[in-house]
Amino acid sequence: MHIMPGLVARKQRLVIGNWKMNGSLAQNASLLDGLRAYPGGACDLAVCVPYPYLAQAAYGLHNTAFGFGAQDVSQHDQGAYTGDVSAAMLADMGCQWVLVGHSERRQHHAETDQQVANKAQAALNAGLTPVVCVGETLAEQSAGHTLGVVARQLAPVLALGADAVNQLVVAYEPVWAIGTGKTATPQQAQDVHAAIRASLDSVGAGQVRILYGGSVNAGNAASLFAMPDIDGALVGGASLQASEFLAIAAA
Ligand code: PEP
Repeated sequence: MHIMPGLVARKQRLVIGNWKMNGSLAQNASLLDGLRAYPGGACDLAVCVPYPYLAQAAYGLHNTAFGFGAQDVSQHDQGAYTGDVSAAMLADMGCQWVLVGHSERRQHHAETDQQVANKAQAALNAGLTPVVCVGETLAEQSAGHTLGVVARQLAPVLALGADAVNQLVVAYEPVWAIGTGKTATPQQAQDVHAAIRASLDSVGAGQVRILYGGSVNAGNAASLFAMPDIDGALVGGASLQASEFLAIAAA
C-alpha cells in the first residue's frame, strides 16, 4: 500500500555524520565534546567513524543523543579475511549503525551491488542497522540514467525481502554532489527519493527512511528536509565541525 505523503505523521528524521578517513584522537575528542553539548531533539542522530576510533566514539557519546557506527563492514561472518571487520565485531563494540555501499567504497574498492546487499544482510544478522548508499555519477546523470542506476543498485537489496528491507535505511547520494559543494536541488532529490520510495513500497517497505547525502550543510538542510520523501541526511564534510553538524540536526 502506498501512503500519500502528508496524510501520515512524518517518519522520525535521522541525521548521520560520516567522518570518512578523517580525525585523530585529539581532533575527535574536541568534536565529540561539541556533540555532547547537544541537548537532543526530535531526530535520531549518529556518527559513523573510522574503525580505530569506535571505542573513542562509544566512550565519548555514552549517555548522549548520538548513536555511532562504522563506515563499512565485511560481508563475511569471520575467518581468513585479513583487514576486514565483521558485523558481529561492530556490534560487540556497541555500534548501532553501519554504512554499506558508500560511493567511495564502490569506486575505490570495486564493491558490486550484490556485495553491498550481502553486507546489508550481514549487518542485519548482527543486529545493526545498515545504511545502504546509492547514487549516480555525473556522467550517468547527464545521460539521464539516474533512476535506472539507483534501481540497479537497489535490486539485490530489495531481493533480501520485506523483513530485511524494513529494518534498513537508504541514503541517496548523487556522486556528483559528494564533497563537491554541489547539492541536488530539493526537487531533484525529492524526485529520486519518490522513485526509491515506490520501489521500497513495491516490496512492502514504503516506510523505510530515505536520507539525502551530498554537500548537505546548515544552509541547505531545511529546504531539503521540507520535501515529503527526504527523511534526513547523510553528512560528510559538514559532520567534522560540531556546530555545523548540530545546525543541520536542528534543521
Ligand atoms: C558522504 O560522504 O556521504 C557525503 C555526503 O559527503 P559530503 O557531505 O561531504 O558531500
